[in-house]
Amino acid sequence: MALLINDPDNHQLIERDLKYAFWQNHAIVDAAVGTIVEYGTTDRDKNKESYAELWHRWIYEDYYRTYMLPLEKYGIKIHHDDVALAWDRMVKKNYVHKTAQFFSVGWPVAFWRQEAQTDKDFEWFEFKYPGWYAEFGDYWRWYEKLSHKGETSILFNQDVGYAYPHRCWSCMVPCLIREDFCCDEVDGKMYTYCSEICRWTHKVAFSAEYEGRPTPAMGRFSGRREWEECYDGWDVADAIADLGFVRSDGKTLVPQPHLHFEDSKMWTLDDVRGHKLGSPLKAFRALTPEQREVAVTEYRKGFKINPCN
Ligand SMILES: [Zn+2]
Repeated sequence: MALLINDPDNHQLIERDLKYAFWQNHAIVDAAVGTIVEYGTTDRDKNKESYAELWHRWIYEDYYRTYMLPLEKYGIKIHHDDVALAWDRMVKKNYVHKTAQFFSVGWPVAFWRQEAQTDKDFEWFEFKYPGWYAEFGDYWRWYEKLSHKGETSILFNQDVGYAYPHRCWSCMVPCLIREDFCCDEVDGKMYTYCSEICRWTHKVAFSAEYEGRPTPAMGRFSGRREWEECYDGWDVADAIADLGFVRSDGKTLVPQPHLHFEDSKMWTLDDVRGHKLGSPLKAFRALTPEQREVAVTEYRKGFKINPCN
């Protein structure tokens, strides 16, 4: 690192890399690890640090203050505002909670089991994240209600009020903070992003030229990055079978919306069949520019979960 920094000619690219790497790490790692830490446990001891508290220690105090900040004395520009933005996404915009919600909506096509949250969890979340219950309480009650075999899975259940999200072409996590959703054209094609920095990452940081300098070795963000596109138009049961997420009896799903093991409670392919998956990006690209503008405005308004009785 010291060798690289000593040549000012490298600074432009180091700054670019630090910026997009910080944001990608935040968008991807906080989504996955945050969900596991906060929702994959039954330990609701209030003295236990929340993921936001851990983040402050690990990312803010450690990664940012002891690694990124000292680089400034070598003349490297550090994007302090990006760190503040990521922190806001964690504590003000409920990034981790929205990711856990999304993961649970998609339970039939995941390779894990996610259990409903209970009153004990609600109390802990509200203690650690004031206002949590107002936004997520009803959702998790719905999740429990619809976790029983024979119900219409939450992914396709119209009563809940959940609106399936677009996916970010850059970090590949869905665009869950609706107000930050954006789109742009790259090489003549329309893409959707979870945030302005993810848009910049694809369009600017990973282009073949960066601020007038050829950067041919950058990745191309190409291929089938949007998962939904792989199964666009498929029945969800066929998609699950194609993924190989079926037990050796040929019908019981590997994923289940609960942690029970009794056969009578296990969802099978027949319990989810009859619903089609769709690619949000494909649908978005089919819109006219005027329709797209309306769709973006609507998307940014978000959705409201219906009360669960
Ligand atoms: Zn993103």
